[in-house]
Amino acid sequence: PSTQNVFDVQAVRRDFPILSERVNGKQLVWFDNAATTHKPKSVIERLSYFYEHENSNIHRAAHELAARASDAYEGARRKVADFLGARSVDEIIFVRGTTEGINLIANTFGRQNIGEGDEIIVSNLEHHANIVPWQLLAAEVGAKIRVIPVDDTGQIILEEYAKLLGPKTKLVSVTQVSNALGTVTPIAEIISMAHALGVRVLVDGAQSVSHMRVDVRALDADFFVFSGHKVFGPTGIGAVYGKQELLEQLPPWEGGGNMIADVTFEKTIYQSAPLRFEAGTGNIADAVGLGAALDYVERIGLENIYRYEHDLLVYATRGLSAVPGIRLIGTAAHKASVLSFVLDGYRTEEIGVALNREGIAVRSGHHCAQPILRRFGVETTVRPSLAFYNTHAEVDLLVSVVQRLARDKGLGR
Ligand code: PMP
Repeated sequence: PSTQNVFDVQAVRRDFPILSERVNGKQLVWFDNAATTHKPKSVIERLSYFYEHENSNIHRAAHELAARASDAYEGARRKVADFLGARSVDEIIFVRGTTEGINLIANTFGRQNIGEGDEIIVSNLEHHANIVPWQLLAAEVGAKIRVIPVDDTGQIILEEYAKLLGPKTKLVSVTQVSNALGTVTPIAEIISMAHALGVRVLVDGAQSVSHMRVDVRALDADFFVFSGHKVFGPTGIGAVYGKQELLEQLPPWEGGGNMIADVTFEKTIYQSAPLRFEAGTGNIADAVGLGAALDYVERIGLENIYRYEHDLLVYATRGLSAVPGIRLIGTAAHKASVLSFVLDGYRTEEIGVALNREGIAVRSGHHCAQPILRRFGVETTVRPSLAFYNTHAEVDLLVSVVQRLARDKGLGR
């Protein structure tokens, strides 16, 4: 990137080849960042470099390319650890993404610590990836899921959370940023309230790491999970952070190569964390690509990103709020990146189609978060979601198309 501490959005945009793409005869406007983000050249080139110069399986063979691949892979683990503020690289497990990460914790920590009559607390905001794994576990062991309600702005109600916490609570699993509404939850308070009762907390960081500085140690998170593809890295790679003393106590999840120290037909001795949780050949190249993405984000600076995006979100909120017949859902005081709305007289997919015609990519649907949309009485919304490479001019275009749709139905007259 061409910026140090001053944020130059046009310079940043030149780092992302796909932003020059034309769709339907129009310049692409990417407002689907909550679904996935684009990749800077440095990430794309890092992947090519790996396959051209380093490609090998890791940890096993003793030859030059195996050493290069292992160094690159373990170097990426170090970058993830530093990015999250972990104490040690041994606290970072590579997984496919947030979904696999939550399933990993459910199948290890969950099976070990959650039993009949125990309770798992989630919030009303959760993505299906932070609901369904707990339902599967609860059904298996006879545990119960309790849900923290949100207020009419889409913010978690801490007083209600306090009432749910109790001797039966064995885990709290809550998102840091809602993918459907953009709410930034009071995760530090959520964690300290749980810890006061000795309860462990998993933070779903899928939507937070690309928008704000995360420090797992400052938060005192027990587990933290995110996906590479939402933070300008490749698909198919993500990470679980777990406090070392916790990971060391957890049983393995998947069995196979890499995760063992010694195998006989009678008994297997497992590796210690994190290798114990990385059975089989992992996504080596994409882990390395994720490391390059985190380098990129650090060069831009999360503080710069946060400031710029906050300004853009305020601008977009103001623009869309002025459209007659629009209903913005998710109006919490503390939000990141996401706008979610419905418009009188339109099905949400019609708005998606109209925007796509203008080259604007948004998601229209339930965003894999049906419970929170139903809390607001809708099944689907239109969801423009921002990243630091979006511009005020792109927001103007979005608002003008939605304005035109409203006018076409005679709204506001
Ligand atoms: N949690 C949240 C808050 C998300 O936004 C997402 C992705 N939409 C996920 C979990 C699941 O992430 P992935 O599909 O990358 O596993």
